[in-house]
Amino acid sequence: MRLFEGTPLDRPPRCEECGELEEECTCPPPPPLVIPPEKQTARLAIEKRKKGKVVTVVTGMPEEGNDLPALLTRLKSVCGAGGTLKDAVLEIQGRHLDRVRAELQKIGYRVKG
Ligand SMILES: [Zn+2]
Repeated sequence: MRLFEGTPLDRPPRCEECGELEEECTCPPPPPLVIPPEKQTARLAIEKRKKGKVVTVVTGMPEEGNDLPALLTRLKSVCGAGGTLKDAVLEIQGRHLDRVRAELQKIGYRVKG
């Protein structure tokens, strides 16, 4: 029994790429997270932006080995702040070293800074 069986949310799962039912989809599977977090070191820093804004910057995690958009969403949620992702650099608005460090360590990353 699926989670939302019998409700309006009960739609058969479809492939996001081709739109076919998942049973009929022949797309190659999406690439998995190829680099285990414990093999990576995230570097944290506080940087100043114009108008005196402060951001927490996370670097050291390559895009091809990590789901950085998902990570950004998670960090924004944990910090209760906005953020951006550009060129494999995660930026969270405000000063959130402790929260970001704790969350990354919870996932398994090594953290410096
Ligand atoms: Zn497909």
